[in-house]
Amino acid sequence: MLILKSLLVAMMVSSPVWALTPIPGSNFKVHIVAARNYRSSDLEKLKQAAAVVETIMNSVEFKNNILNFSYQGSKEFVQNNGLSNEQLYEYLMAGAEKYPVQMQPLNTMEVEFELYKPKLFSQRGVIGWTNTSISTIYVNQKYYRTEAIADVADNMVHEWCHKMGFDHDFNYTDRRPYSVPYGVGDLVGRMINGEQ
Ligand SMILES: [Zn+2]
Repeated sequence: MLILKSLLVAMMVSSPVWALTPIPGSNFKVHIVAARNYRSSDLEKLKQAAAVVETIMNSVEFKNNILNFSYQGSKEFVQNNGLSNEQLYEYLMAGAEKYPVQMQPLNTMEVEFELYKPKLFSQRGVIGWTNTSISTIYVNQKYYRTEAIADVADNMVHEWCHKMGFDHDFNYTDRRPYSVPYGVGDLVGRMINGEQ
């Protein structure tokens, strides 16, 4: 079953994910709790991204990339809530979302999505958003429908990291790419593209 699933994932995206080494016994899951306003092709894309995220997060390579992540020569993420890379890895894999309510550690990424069409011009540049008082992750339909799986997966992980309690600078700063949402999300995107 695992082989069949891996094969399907390999067919959906290019080869890099196919080459990953699974950690024996690692069984992290992505659970799409809801996907509102997703038509069937949108949902298929979301499911493909979720499957790839599962494969990546259960891999030796993902673990090593997290453990070796560094900012300015120090092996840590920016705004890491006091967690070392080792602690961050364990914390993420436990999957106990913090917002909007504290969840149990079920080794599962629980994510709830809603596609939306921006009404105001000022909102058109936003790929997606959420906040700590809601469970929904709002995704801009305009971007979503043209995005590659790597970007969908990157955004999924980014927004989920916010649910896990991590923040980043609002505007671009030199350190922002090294925050947990940007750092881990972009890492997943690069791994799908075979860049890391
Ligand atoms: Zn963010």
